[in-house]
Order: sequence, then structure tokens, then C-alpha cells
Amino acid sequence: MSRFLVLVAFLTLLSCQNRGKTPGLIDNTIKSSVNSNETQNRYQKYDSLFEKNSQFISTSFDYPVGKPNAKGYYNAQEFRENDHLGDDWNGLNGGNTDLGDPIYAISNGYISSAKDIKGGWGKVVRIIHQYKGNYYESLYAHCQSILIKEGEFVKKGALIATIGNADGIYLAHLHLEIRDNIFMDIGAGYSKNTNGYLDPTKFINKN
Ligand SMILES: [Zn+2]
Repeated sequence: MSRFLVLVAFLTLLSCQNRGKTPGLIDNTIKSSVNSNETQNRYQKYDSLFEKNSQFISTSFDYPVGKPNAKGYYNAQEFRENDHLGDDWNGLNGGNTDLGDPIYAISNGYISSAKDIKGGWGKVVRIIHQYKGNYYESLYAHCQSILIKEGEFVKKGALIATIGNADGIYLAHLHLEIRDNIFMDIGAGYSKNTNGYLDPTKFINKN
């Protein structure tokens, strides 16, 4: 994603910090207890979804391109490089040679979102994974086309989308994020604050 978005992320971060200082202590206490109840309820939704569809609980993770091990692709911008919150997967032949290439689900899971959110993100697929009793989210951005629907379950390695360029903003590549907080907004793609985000390559290699 562009350096412009880095700036936006930075400004958003600043405005959040400023906002955090204004409310009184009591307000914050009430708010945080409401939030934790809401979070619990939202976990219950996924607990029951995966209980009823236990064949879609994750057992391992693969790469989203050149499956299973990213053969023919390289990571052009690693996690935390330039405050990047994901990995950027590109075809070895560079440019737009990977435009339209298949993107695969990195593991079994539930499609929580699959839509065009435009701007610097383009078409984005988000998958919730239940793995060893914990929840993770994988997010696939800038897609050319989306081949699955929100609310479906997928198996690891399923074709879910194709590599795009977010309507011509970038050279074609896949921006992949893995999160261990599954309730975050789309985010900015770049931030110094990596809370809720994991290093995708490290996570996939380990699991
Ligand atoms: Zn990226």
C-alpha cells in the first residue's frame, strides 16, 4: 500500500491518542466493561459456528500463493518493514505478471467479510480461523476478483480470490495480514502499533 496510507495511519493514531485523554475515569470504566461483554458475545457466535461445523476448525496453515509454500512468489515488503502490518506477495517475474493469479485460503475457516471497500484496500476477503482453541483472522487485500461469499466456510487451500492491483493503484500483489485480535476494523495497513497483528510468514512457518 502507498506511503500516503502510512501518513493516514499515523494521523489516525495521533487523533486516537488525543481522544483517549478527554473522557473521565468513570466513563472509561463503564465503557470497558460493556466492551468486554460485547467481545464475549461475539466470541460465542464463532464458538457456536465452529462447533456446528467442526470440519472447518484449523489444523495447520499454508501460504496464500503458490500453494503450499509460495513457490514462484516472493515477499516484497515484510511485516514491520516501513511499519507494514502484513506481507506483500508478488510473482517472481515482477510487475503485473501475477495479476489474476489464484489466492488460496491459508487454513480452514469462516468468511467473515468479502467485499470491495475501495480506496487503498480494493476488494478484501477476511477469514476467521479457530485453531488450538484460539481465534485468528487472515485478511487478503487488493484482489482482482472475489470467488467466495461472506458467511461461507472454506477449507485450507480453497481458491478464494485472484491477485489484483486495487483498481490500478499498485502493481499487482497480495497484501496478507494475520491478526490475533479478530474484532478489529480494517485498519490502515501500516502502523508502528502492531497490537493485534502477527508476522504472517513467521506464523505460517510455525503452524
Ligand atoms: Zn501491503
